[in-house]
Amino acid sequence: STIGSATSVAVIGLGRFGTALALELMAHGTEVLGIDGDEQVVQALNGELTAVVAGDATRPELIEQLGLADFDRVVVAIGTDVTANILTTSQLLRVGVKEVWAKALDERHALILHQLGVHHVVRPEADMGRRVAHMVRGALEDFIEIDAGYAAVRLEAPLDLLAVPLRELGLQVKHGIGIGAVRRDGAWVIANPETRLERGDILLVHGTTAKVEAFAASAA
Ligand code: ADP
Repeated sequence: STIGSATSVAVIGLGRFGTALALELMAHGTEVLGIDGDEQVVQALNGELTAVVAGDATRPELIEQLGLADFDRVVVAIGTDVTANILTTSQLLRVGVKEVWAKALDERHALILHQLGVHHVVRPEADMGRRVAHMVRGALEDFIEIDAGYAAVRLEAPLDLLAVPLRELGLQVKHGIGIGAVRRDGAWVIANPETRLERGDILLVHGTTAKVEAFAASAA
């Protein structure tokens, strides 16, 4: 079995977030060891993941038994139980897991995880809340902040930009944004300087968050 090899991932805490994460990894060909303290949760996922184990992840014995030190990447997806989340994380760091990803409940929890030396702290609720805010505000169909202050969004082609080659629109100069790709009749095609937008096209627009927001607002 390749479980425990560098390419496999262990996911601890199979709530909504951990389960979605584990299943998505499986769907894209990554071996996943799932661990949860709840026997019913483990049974429900039996057969869906490469391996599923019931146990209390805060216990050093379990971490040793499962050989978690040999995993390059372990995700602590324990949500509401902050104590269990921190105890588990500190054990993983102690045994030398190369890359620990941990979910934080709030900012203070995130600070503790950073102080422990967690390599990647994720805050799914906060991230999703910010993302939906940008969608609720404007004409954006989707919004992803690639990095602090830089975003990629999806929106319908503004009517005043139709029929003219992108090269002549000067969007980069006028609006500070780029059009990366266009979806027409269900298929995404990389945009090029000669691309002429058509009514109903869906655009992948990127730029600083402020520029993208302003462009979407002017297009609405
Ligand atoms: P979500 O908000 O993603 O659904 P939850 O906090 O509801 O997250 O679920 C986290 C999961 O973590 C639960 O299934 C719970 O059984 C599991 N869990 C909590 N503490 C431990 C622990 N010490 N060891 C293993 N699993 C745990």
